[in-house]
Amino acid sequence: MTIKEYVLKRKQEIKQYVSCMQKKPSLAIVQVNDDPASNAYIKGKLKDAEELNINAKLIKLPQSTTQEELLTLINKLNNGDNYDGFIVQMPLPNQINEEAIKLAISPKKDIDGFHPLSTLSPCTPKGIMNYLKYENVELLGKNAVVIGRSNIVGKPMAKLLLNESCNVTILHSKTKFEDMANYIKNADIIVVAIGRPGFLDKRFNYKPDSVIVDVGISRTDEGLKGDAIKDLGVKIQTPVPGGVGLLTRLALYENLLELTKGK
Ligand code: NAP
Repeated sequence: MTIKEYVLKRKQEIKQYVSCMQKKPSLAIVQVNDDPASNAYIKGKLKDAEELNINAKLIKLPQSTTQEELLTLINKLNNGDNYDGFIVQMPLPNQINEEAIKLAISPKKDIDGFHPLSTLSPCTPKGIMNYLKYENVELLGKNAVVIGRSNIVGKPMAKLLLNESCNVTILHSKTKFEDMANYIKNADIIVVAIGRPGFLDKRFNYKPDSVIVDVGISRTDEGLKGDAIKDLGVKIQTPVPGGVGLLTRLALYENLLELTKGK
């Protein structure tokens, strides 16, 4: 099943689940940065909410918003009961410290799963893991290589794979090329999240029955590009666009529903 088909199927299931809930779930999206990428991501999230019959409200603040002002709003959203959860769209303007904002969002409302005390996983790794399980990708005892070690993708992805008893290796910008080539050659699952278009290419050898999950999204003159070139000859390779981005959007609503459980 393609990722598009999988997402469509899961959306139908979520819609059905929501239709049985006594109260419609609700979320707020706080936007401070008015850049085109953020606008596109938010548009997608609002469209998903509409399709799933979930209340979503965009709270748009001016670019000049101070950290203090944003923290005041977060405090209100943390303590009010208008929304089951909320997100603050990243990146934020320079005057605001992103880590301080992530820590200020209560784990009870944090649908991005960024807070260290959150019981939820960040959306990108969560969406990927759900998809791998759905596709019955064998995980137990398999060699998984995660390229990239960010707090929102690489590290939590490695943790989820480890929880499934994969042998996990995390690679990064300081990994030597020969070492990277060796790990990749023996990998059953490769998750690449580095933001370097076409980094995984024919310089490397891949197991024919391996799975490549391409998280990278880079805007180039030739359009959106992933971290891998197309058609690397493996069993499953997720496309860009139309791949991990869709899984991430889906996981946002899966996280929201988890927060509403027991309410
Ligand atoms: P990030 O915070 O910039 O981290 C990038 C990571 O890649 C770092 O750990 C860095 O290593 C590593 N790296 C950079 N160049 C490398 C190289 N040549 N070889 C090996 N490792 C290298 O990025 P991020 O937030 O994790 O995002 C990564 C990519 O995924 C971006 O393209 C982003 O747009 C995309 N993304 C997509 C989605 C989605 O929904 N599809 C969601 C999130 C992110 P060091 O730590 O050593 O610097």
